[in-house]
Amino acid sequence: MRILLVGPPGAGKGTQARQLAERLEVPHIASGDLLRGAIAEGTELGLAAKAYMDRGDLVPDELMIRFIADRVSEPDADGFVLDGFPRTDAQALALDEVLERIDRPLDKVIHLDVPNEEIVDRLSGRRMCPTCQRAYHVKYDPPQEPGRCDEDGTELVTRPDDAPETVQHRLDVYHSATKGLLRHYDRDGVFSCVDGIGTVDEVAARIHKAIGIEG
Ligand code: ADP
Ligand code: AMP
Repeated sequence: MRILLVGPPGAGKGTQARQLAERLEVPHIASGDLLRGAIAEGTELGLAAKAYMDRGDLVPDELMIRFIADRVSEPDADGFVLDGFPRTDAQALALDEVLERIDRPLDKVIHLDVPNEEIVDRLSGRRMCPTCQRAYHVKYDPPQEPGRCDEDGTELVTRPDDAPETVQHRLDVYHSATKGLLRHYDRDGVFSCVDGIGTVDEVAARIHKAIGIEG
């Protein structure tokens, strides 16, 4: 199954995508995680992307499109849960084109709908594992041992772009560059809007219902 999750920064896309990908036994392809991995490895893409990310701006389309087009074309990506890409019209058109060319069309596009006030609350408490990139929340989704990743024990960090002034800018960028994409996908019966308010399990159950899987 090929699923795309769209929604504002902090909506819970990564949290839901990680669990859903595990359940469907497909890769979780998250553009932000891939970029942070590229920065940690010091690749050319990472070096080019870092300043944009720190400011909360979008990384230029030509870099992103090449990078994600390559990833969704890999042999393990016959099914996937994609999150964080596309974020612009040009990215959406490029994704349509590449998925059609490799005959891997999207089965479902899920819009995780969360209002701005909730986003600010979620992002101010987000902590991330720099090793596996799993996100936690100090109040809503805490790790078993405070400050340590459940998966690998790494000390959790606060993302630099979760600083309040950068969060506001990222929300502005979402509303000006990305939100219009919902119209692009609101067609062909592939699109569902899911209420992203509630516990992680409640939201997961709504997503499962929208894509037609049990539980
Ligand atoms: P995104 O990938 O959309 O940016 P994340 O999955 O990283 O969002 O979630 C943002 C923050 O909100 C994280 O701290 C995460 O633990 C928390 N979170 C995710 N889902 C929920 C939820 N349903 N209720 C409360 N907090 C949540
Ligand atoms: P995320 O982890 O999805 O919140 O993304 C973190 C940051 O990575 C964003 O604020 C952007 O700077 C960059 N980024 C991730 N995905 C994209 C994309 N599809 N297009 C442009 N920039 C992106």
